[in-house]
Amino acid sequence: MSSGILQPVQGFIEGERRSDPGTKNFACPKGFSALVKYFLAQAEPVETRYGARVINIKNEATNKLQVFTDSGHTDVFDTVILTMPVPQLFLIDGCIQDILESKPDLKKKLQAVTYSSRFCLGIYYPRGTHLNIPWTAKYIDGHPCIRYVCVDSCKRGADEDLVGPSLLVHTSVPYSIQHVEADKEAMKPILMEFLNDLLPNLPQPDFIKSHKWRYSQVSKTFEGSSGCISLLDEPPILIGGDAFTRSKFDGCIQSAETLVSFILKGNLLKATGS
Ligand SMILES: Cc1cc2nc3c(=O)[nH]c(=O)nc-3n(C[C@H](O)[C@H](O)[C@H](O)COP(=O)(O)OP(=O)(O)OC[C@H]3O[C@@H](n4cnc5c(N)ncnc54)[C@H](O)[C@@H]3O)c2cc1C
Repeated sequence: MSSGILQPVQGFIEGERRSDPGTKNFACPKGFSALVKYFLAQAEPVETRYGARVINIKNEATNKLQVFTDSGHTDVFDTVILTMPVPQLFLIDGCIQDILESKPDLKKKLQAVTYSSRFCLGIYYPRGTHLNIPWTAKYIDGHPCIRYVCVDSCKRGADEDLVGPSLLVHTSVPYSIQHVEADKEAMKPILMEFLNDLLPNLPQPDFIKSHKWRYSQVSKTFEGSSGCISLLDEPPILIGGDAFTRSKFDGCIQSAETLVSFILKGNLLKATGS
């Protein structure tokens, strides 16, 4: 928080269901990716490659792991940690699929992990626009399409003299499941129509961005895991992420801490020859 990466959510959230009365809401003013980049910066010196999709992992005879990306980049590692949504693990060629074939019980448990889906609109208004909305965010019960609307600029505490307001709209889980195969661009006018019915008199936006999460929050986590699992012991391939805890920030931290202690323990055992 002292670095400004996280800050308390500004304003009032309408219709929020709090399972834990002690829950506090925080926002990342520079976006969620700033949080990940912050932690990576703490771990420097590390060479970080963003926007690279891993397509193949080979287990080399030298006890190293060779990783290939879709941009043609190849690198060799002692340990690999994978934190993508579990169904996307099955898209990586090479030793991952061989390991899963050799461990049918593990494969079955991974296949049992399920996710909800979600469409989202980011709606950006010109600087100086007033939206006249009394809340920062609102959960909408019983709507046929929309579950959540947020004045994102307000949530992030953006300086209104510098940036115009922006709205964030999330679809409900049932609506998203029903339309999951739809193209995100095709959904844009449909979602805008639902929004304009819900909030009439919205001003004309400058720009609308549409997004689809095929794998949004985890609805069924990996059975019996407390943060990560080992796919291969030597060389280590570990799998972690919110599927192994829960789809909340604290779940991500728990998985990360479990992964770190797993690796440190492995290194200690190697160093002591145990
Ligand atoms: C709409 C929505 C709203 C949410 N709201 C909240 C909230 O209010 N509070 C909260 O605490 N949590 C919230 N969450 C949950 C939170 O975002 C997740 O729990 C968290 O992002 C999980 O982190 P992760 O690192 O496990 O996985 P992810 O954030 O899913 O990261 C996985 C990464 O792996 C990448 N990837 C996939 N395949 C490959 C590949 N082959 N090679 C390389 N990279 C790959 C993906 O691009 C992605 O960047 C929300 C999630 C969604 C979708």
